[in-house]
Order: sequence, then structure tokens, then C-alpha cells
Amino acid sequence: MIDTNISFNDMCGVLETMVQKLYGEDTKIRLRPKYFHFVEPGVNGEVTCFLCHGQGCKLCKQTGWLEIFGAGMVHPNVLKAGKVDPNKYQGFAFGFGLTRLVMLKYNIDDVRLLQSGDLRFLNQF
Ligand SMILES: [Zn+2]
Repeated sequence: MIDTNISFNDMCGVLETMVQKLYGEDTKIRLRPKYFHFVEPGVNGEVTCFLCHGQGCKLCKQTGWLEIFGAGMVHPNVLKAGKVDPNKYQGFAFGFGLTRLVMLKYNIDDVRLLQSGDLRFLNQF
């Protein structure tokens, strides 16, 4: 998203709304600082674990959270490279891990199942 008056809070609101629409209104997000190319600041995005609902389990390594996306405010140099005036425009970008999205959507508790090539498992979808 690139426009005038786009803030970090806008990014948080979009991400929170997105995960709540995907996984339910009680889903929470947690952002932790992380370096990514092309954004400043960058964050790792986590959502409450679908299996234990934040209590801690084997899947979330007892943290209650699952990391499913990276995000950040677009770096001014990226805007300049796109011939966009960084003094007038701001923006944010994000990307979700596809396997994590599928795990959360279908309550799959072991990512290795998705990469196993086992057609008995994969044909369920
Ligand atoms: Zn858990």
C-alpha cells in the first residue's frame, strides 16, 4: 500500500483485520523487530497459535505464537527507485508464508506433512 499519510499503525490495522478475517475474530497479532531488505522498520508477524489458543504447545514451541508473515514500512530509497516522492508518499508491504497459512486454515499441526509428497494426505485438499 502506497499513499499519502500511511503510517505504521495503518499497517498494523490491515494485518490484524486480515488475520481476523482468515482465522477468527479472537486471533491476535504480535510484531517483533526484524531486518528485511527494502523496508524500515521491518517486523516479524506472529498470530496466536490455532492449536493451543495461546496457551503453549508443541507446535508453537510453548510460546503461544506462530510466525506467519514479514512486514514493514517501505524504505524511502525504494520509493525513490520507483520514481515516487518519499517526502509525499509512504507505504507498507507484507508477505505471508504459504505453508503457515495453509496449516492455520486446515489445522495441520506438522508442516512436514505438506512437503511429504504423500498423496493420501495431499488429496484431502
Ligand atoms: Zn500452540
